[in-house]
Amino acid sequence: MSDEVEIGFMEARAVLQSECLKVLPAVRRQVDAHRQTFIWQMDKGLANSIFGIPIEKAHDARLTSEQVRRIARENGKNYCYTCMAITPKVLALSLSIERLSHGTLSPQEELNCFRSLIERLAVLEAALEAMSRTVRPEKIKTFDDLIEVREAVSTLIGTRFDWSKLQLIDFSKMPSKTDYFHDSAETRVDLSARNILNQIDKLQKKERYKGIRPFYNFCCEFVHPNIGDILATTSEKQIIKTQGGQLAYKTKYHEDPSKISKDDRDFFILFSKAYAFGTMLIREAEKVTLEYGNLLNTVRRVNRKCAHKVVKRQIACFSKDDYCPCGSGRSIRACAFRRERP
Ligand SMILES: [Zn+2]
Repeated sequence: MSDEVEIGFMEARAVLQSECLKVLPAVRRQVDAHRQTFIWQMDKGLANSIFGIPIEKAHDARLTSEQVRRIARENGKNYCYTCMAITPKVLALSLSIERLSHGTLSPQEELNCFRSLIERLAVLEAALEAMSRTVRPEKIKTFDDLIEVREAVSTLIGTRFDWSKLQLIDFSKMPSKTDYFHDSAETRVDLSARNILNQIDKLQKKERYKGIRPFYNFCCEFVHPNIGDILATTSEKQIIKTQGGQLAYKTKYHEDPSKISKDDRDFFILFSKAYAFGTMLIREAEKVTLEYGNLLNTVRRVNRKCAHKVVKRQIACFSKDDYCPCGSGRSIRACAFRRERP
């Protein structure tokens, strides 16, 4: 009986690993073309001008000064900020998948990977959902659409800290939370753990994610100092009967906690289930990252189109040696005015 359970465990683990190996290249490929971004730097000198034109003269251009101002401020940022929100999340997801693919992690580390994967998956799904209510990726056409996307994915950039203060104070000198925490009302970048739990609960309501919250809680049992420590570090748990009829519960603790439990039926059953559920999550992760890959490509294309239209129409406002406001990192001459090759 125990053999059958052990075989089931080994199989479930092998399926998980092969699924991870299968989806990993596709997941990473989604952000391959979006690993390098350039933001038009609005330094003090530039802040007073729009692409080299003083703000007070902006009305000379055909666009309204408000339009030019918005474009100057926002255009280069739309694509870059969208990448900043999405690319690191996809790469972090891929890291969990890669680590699970090795098959060399301890069970506790594996569940830690799942936990990290679920949290990223939850925020990525939440941002997709937010976008589906405002701007659908296939309908992104205008500058305003790009701003909608940027708004929706901005929820992917969260922190509790004010990082500039963090650099100045040693941890031992941080007496209260509020001293180095962001004023979330002011900056809108607080993404608390509670927030993530809400998003996991929202996934739990979807048919394809049913079970994600209990699975997440299960993973947490092994990440937090809970009973998972016992399950992950013990083996040969069995009830032994003496000749005199006395019962003893035998437990053996691993010398090396990274090793997988041997002869542990409870462990095998639980982890077979965990691997099966995890395999399903890896497939969902692939689908989600594909959607984001498409979104990034669209945002880059539309952003470039919008920026080049402005540059070409208002060329008097620019120097051709300026960085192109599309955020390509090339000069306007080499980007917007690049000779089209047939
Ligand atoms: Zn350009």
